[in-house]
Amino acid sequence: MGPTNAISCLFCKVRIVLLLVMGVMLLGLAAIYFVDSLHYGPRYKTSVENLIKCLPPDKKDEDKNQERSSSVVEMTTQMSDVKVCPALSPYLKGVVPLSFEPSLNLEKVTSKNPEVENGRFRPKNCEPQQKVAILIPHRNRERHLLYLLENLHPFLQRQQLDYGIYVIHQAGNMKFNRAKLLNVGYLEALKEEKWDCFVFHDVDLLPENDFNLYLCDSEPKHLVVGRNATGYRLRYPGYFGGVTAMTRGQFAKVNGYSNNYWGWGGEDDDLRYRVELQNMKVVRPAPQVAKYTMIFHTRDSGNEVNGQRMQLLNKVSKVWKADGLNSCSYRALSVEHNPMYINITADIGGPR
Ligand code: BGC
Repeated sequence: MGPTNAISCLFCKVRIVLLLVMGVMLLGLAAIYFVDSLHYGPRYKTSVENLIKCLPPDKKDEDKNQERSSSVVEMTTQMSDVKVCPALSPYLKGVVPLSFEPSLNLEKVTSKNPEVENGRFRPKNCEPQQKVAILIPHRNRERHLLYLLENLHPFLQRQQLDYGIYVIHQAGNMKFNRAKLLNVGYLEALKEEKWDCFVFHDVDLLPENDFNLYLCDSEPKHLVVGRNATGYRLRYPGYFGGVTAMTRGQFAKVNGYSNNYWGWGGEDDDLRYRVELQNMKVVRPAPQVAKYTMIFHTRDSGNEVNGQRMQLLNKVSKVWKADGLNSCSYRALSVEHNPMYINITADIGGPR
């Protein structure tokens, strides 16, 4: 081999080595890109999917898609500056002994809850994913209300909720109408805040375990699986009373509660029928968690058992569209923002 041939052969070898090195580098870069996209792609996708899942189903179906996509954009932007609260708050303790201090008064409850203002609270260090309104129908049960406020405020704060407590007080002495008061609470509360979730709450039921989350689900949620008075067993398979959580949209879809149940009983079964008529299904937390203590009391005068409830229940499918939120006539006599709760006093009339 001549010297010229030897030199060109050397160049040839150097070129091949260079090409091989470049090829290896390219393969390396491609591998890094591939591993990276495997790692981040699904994670990002899952977090957006989770956000979508967390959004409460909302009012009119035709608005739904548009509203969801804009909320997702809003929430994804939020992720960059404010931390979304974790699905389970780090402050949850599980079973917390309830307190029934005989000398309790509203001032004491207020001093124990310095972060609650005008009945409302929101955590400082994270952004809750739902705004929750607790609605409590009320008449002549001041002591029960005190015990409920005393136990509920710290419970809701441990859950890191953005919440407000509304007490809807029935004026006058017509028969008590729990369901209509709850409709009034829903309509009045929405005048001051776009609440995502509503918890309809009896005044005499105290939650025992703070893993029983006061948040709405993709289906209407019944929170009282058991209570002390009934051996912590569900009263009957369809029971939907005591404490129930529905999104703004779920409640609007069923046209709220019926306004026609005066006295005790039936209105919660009526609401369940409405839910079922809309092909929604009731969900419940685990029985170990969904436990309540009921404050014992005798039947209030003005809240006698409603003898007509079975007849009313037989008509739900025929009347629900015209009897509910859209026909709830009342007069709000006052709306007071007290330190521990918002008090709505309403004249809701009487049975016709
Ligand atoms: C009534 C309900 C009540 C339930 C449990 C039923 O007979 O209709 O309104 O919540 O009993 O006490």
